[in-house]
Amino acid sequence: MEGMRGAWGCPECGARFDDPTTRDNHMRSAHRSIYPHWCSFCLCSYKHRDQLERHERWHRLKRQPDDPPAKDGKGGGAGGKAGSSSGTLET
Ligand SMILES: [Zn+2]
Ligand SMILES: [Zn+2]
Repeated sequence: MEGMRGAWGCPECGARFDDPTTRDNHMRSAHRSIYPHWCSFCLCSYKHRDQLERHERWHRLKRQPDDPPAKDGKGGGAGGKAGSSSGTLET
């Protein structure tokens, strides 16, 4: 079954890849000097820093702030009465 092979191309050397992850890995390893700005969220790499910043901003917009306040219902230990038994011995 051919047809959709190499849908992702390297813009530098023209190599074709089946998926963007492989392509980005190739760009990282083969053209690291040309694409020094790597996305810290995915495998994208960019020539220019502003391109990377715009891309990373998109990541941050995508992942919405989702940290609900932690409900910690724990609290109050079981109070134990320390009873002192006093024994009186009479002789
Ligand atoms: Zn390449
Ligand atoms: Zn990314």
